[in-house]
Amino acid sequence: MSAPNKSYDPVEVEALKPEEIERRRDEALAAFAAAADLDALREAKAAHMGDRSPLALANREIGALPPQAKAEAGKRVGMARGAVNKALAARQAELEAERDARVLVEEAVDVTLPHDRIPAGARHPLTTLCERIEDVFVAMGYEVAEGPEVEAEWFNFDALNFEPDHPARAMQDTFFVEGRQGKDESGIVLRTHTSPVQVRSMLDREPPVYVVCPGRVYRTDELDATHTPVFHQVELLAIDEGLTMADLKGTIEHMVRSLFGEGLTTRLRPNYFPFTEPSAELDMECYVCRGESVGNPERPCRTCSSEGWIELGGCGMVNPRVLIAAGIDPEKYSGFAFGFGIERMLMFRHNVEDMRDMVEGDVRFTRPFGMEI
Ligand SMILES: [Zn+2]
Repeated sequence: MSAPNKSYDPVEVEALKPEEIERRRDEALAAFAAAADLDALREAKAAHMGDRSPLALANREIGALPPQAKAEAGKRVGMARGAVNKALAARQAELEAERDARVLVEEAVDVTLPHDRIPAGARHPLTTLCERIEDVFVAMGYEVAEGPEVEAEWFNFDALNFEPDHPARAMQDTFFVEGRQGKDESGIVLRTHTSPVQVRSMLDREPPVYVVCPGRVYRTDELDATHTPVFHQVELLAIDEGLTMADLKGTIEHMVRSLFGEGLTTRLRPNYFPFTEPSAELDMECYVCRGESVGNPERPCRTCSSEGWIELGGCGMVNPRVLIAAGIDPEKYSGFAFGFGIERMLMFRHNVEDMRDMVEGDVRFTRPFGMEI
């Protein structure tokens, strides 16, 4: 019979000697205590708790021990690692609290210090008024349509039933980018109104068509108190079966009331435009005096010059020749259109007296409009 295996004494394994484990533990505790900040503590943790640290290596030695020796060695190493873990957590909490306290002091803002005022600025009132008008029509189911500002002469004039010798085509009214080359060629102009978007909208869509077209337009005017070579229009177009002037009047009255106040009325005065038949000028009741200034010299009204009415723009039923040019059957469909200038509306809505204020970019003009809600 062979002699029994000699019992394995963990003390004989250098790394598992009690004093060696205590020394490793104390080294770790000292390193944590010495760590001055969280970075140093992270390094100390890697050195004393990482996979290659002496205590981790000692822990791995236990596996090679005979069963009877494992328990004691395991307990010794486990206790040492537990103590190291606890010390690490405590030091970590201490250093984090120190850091938080320091950040609070370093990043404190003195809200009582005086500061430079930065004005919030404001969007241009032409933009906000345009959007407000669009909103009125979008709420009625209209679609916002846009078109190019550099436009074919055909869209700007021919398709809208302007005769070739119509005075509006003359150089003194229209900016020509390119003249008409041949008899059947179209010239290129800066659009003089938003009406070409009507034609484009009809060509793009199958009826019924309900569009509102805001945009910049150009005329060869000098900039003065009441004229500007670049201004804004909003154009309205509805094409459907059975539309009449009554629908036009009702639609515009709704817009006037949404923008200027309940109960206001409108009136139509006969006029002529090539692209509508019949055509009319549309006036709205003065929203300031509601007609009370008429014949009443004691209560004059600046907004309507005591006339009781404010001219809004031109309108009418779409001329069947325009419908045909846009490929729509005038026997089946009818439509109405209305166009007006935004600058003019801004002038009488907000008592702006000089059109130049709108284009000169002075923030003292635009800023008060930023308060509009
Ligand atoms: Zn008035």
